[in-house]
Amino acid sequence: MSQAQQFEFKTEIKQLLDIITHSIYTSREIFLRELVSNASDALDKLRFEQARSAEIANPDLELQISITADEENHTLTIADTGVGMTMDELVRNIGTIAHSGSAEFIRQAMADQANSSNIIGRFGVGFYSVFMVADKVTIRTRSFDPAAKAVEWSSDGLGTYTVAELEEDLPRGTTLTLQLKEDGKEFAEKNRITSIIKKHSNFISFPILVQGEKA
Ligand code: ADP
Ligand code: MG
Repeated sequence: MSQAQQFEFKTEIKQLLDIITHSIYTSREIFLRELVSNASDALDKLRFEQARSAEIANPDLELQISITADEENHTLTIADTGVGMTMDELVRNIGTIAHSGSAEFIRQAMADQANSSNIIGRFGVGFYSVFMVADKVTIRTRSFDPAAKAVEWSSDGLGTYTVAELEEDLPRGTTLTLQLKEDGKEFAEKNRITSIIKKHSNFISFPILVQGEKA
């Protein structure tokens, strides 16, 4: 791995992360809906690139979302074979630009601390909701652009993140690895994950595999 660079989250995102990590939520499971929705968006974008005959890395990779729960190590991984991200895109999309709903979320959550779990469900604060259940998140991603390099992003959600280009290449797409919080161990159970997927991600048009089985 090349030298990892450390960055600070933009102020607005720091505020968002602070609310997310320091509040008690009743509907934490919605983090998975957000991550699956991002994976599905990335697969839609890949389809679009295919349709306009762009040159694509690993053209034969099946378009799907694979979830792996590891109860022993308290980790959950969500992998997709979508468009992936270059280093620039990663830094821009995660860390710099706040999700469209987040300014309003911050405003409402500050006004009504006790109720922020409802607010988070209503707004869906996107990727950052992962820090309700994880105390460390690693993203390994490889853009569909054949010339791109694989990149690794990592953060504990406390204000900074690191990014590094990887020496080795990766298959196209994005893999998120969540190191679950002590009180988030339930999200490493296969049955729990399958039931959340059925409840919140029923409408997703790509195959979702949990532990290799269709959810
Ligand atoms: P939103 O999905 O509303 O844009 P998110 O916070 O959920 O907000 O995600 C921020 C951005 O990060 C997305 O718009 C996308 O550009 C990028 N992103 C997140 N997850 C993925 C993924 N699995 N593959 C590619 N890009 C992703
Ligand atoms: Mg999203």
